[in-house]
Amino acid sequence: AKAQGRNRQQFYAQQIGDAVSQRLALERDLRAAVAAMDFELHYQPKLRVDGGLAGFEALLRWRRPGHGPVSPALFIPLAEQTGLIDAIGTWVVQQACAQMAAWRDAGLGEVPVAVNMSTSQLRDPGLVAWLAGVRQAHGIADGQLEMEVTESMMMDDPEQAILSLEALRQQGIHLAIDDFGTGYSSMGYLKRIPVHTLKLDRVFVAQVDSDARDADICAGMIALAHQLGLDVVAEGVETDAQRAALAARGCDVFQGYLFARPLPVAEATRYLLACAPT
Ligand code: C2E
Ligand code: CA
Ligand code: CA
Ligand code: CA
Repeated sequence: AKAQGRNRQQFYAQQIGDAVSQRLALERDLRAAVAAMDFELHYQPKLRVDGGLAGFEALLRWRRPGHGPVSPALFIPLAEQTGLIDAIGTWVVQQACAQMAAWRDAGLGEVPVAVNMSTSQLRDPGLVAWLAGVRQAHGIADGQLEMEVTESMMMDDPEQAILSLEALRQQGIHLAIDDFGTGYSSMGYLKRIPVHTLKLDRVFVAQVDSDARDADICAGMIALAHQLGLDVVAEGVETDAQRAALAARGCDVFQGYLFARPLPVAEATRYLLACAPT
């Protein structure tokens, strides 16, 4: 029995060792990717009730050499822990603005693009001035660049976060609360957070057509948002039944695989060409 216990200990030690070295290898590869800025942005369309394009959400893609695509849900937290997120976040904003300018210059119109912001970006006291510079360099008009923040990003210093968001809003950045309903922010903060848009998380969307309680929750959140003067975007809309159930409850904008996956630039451009009035 003693020997068995020792074997088991060795087994667990081995497993922990493997996990640590895998994490280190991932971190090493992520550092190399950041040094080479070996990332792509994909663009997922957001559609209004009438079917018109409301804009794109830019989503980060990393193809890890020897492994294939790695989910940002996996590498963004690592980037946050290691400080790599600052360089990544800078690149994402620059890349998105450059792409908006490229589409505009190609005659495809001014397409709003939303980027996901990280906590450390929101805390950066130089963010507002820096963003103004990037937008000016690319000639991005007010309201065209959107930033998505989560409720949990506000939590460790809500007063500071509200001030930062206020400054961004005054600078013409369109703001959205991402994953709404999954964080811990209180209703009291909601009325003070100076955002334009609320994004309903897909946990509520998934069964909006089949579960009466989820349908009521969505209806309530949409009504609350409208009361506060906010637009509502539903995330993760995969079926027409979900779309119809959300539309019946007043949802303004839809995003999800039902309409399109996040698209590489060439495909997003084709998408724009197809919806541009001829
Ligand atoms: P998110 O901001 O909530 O992004 C929406 C996620 O839902 C994306 O996953 C998108 O591909 C996925 N999605 C879209 N439509 C559907 C659908 O109909 N069904 C399902 N099941 N999923 C759908 P993705 O691209 O893997 O990104 C995961 C998360 O990584 C994002 O969640 C966001 O929190 C983070 N992320 C992505 N890009 C960036 C970035 O540039 N910066 C930062 N800080 N975070 C990012
Ligand atoms: Ca988002
Ligand atoms: Ca989301
Ligand atoms: Ca999410």
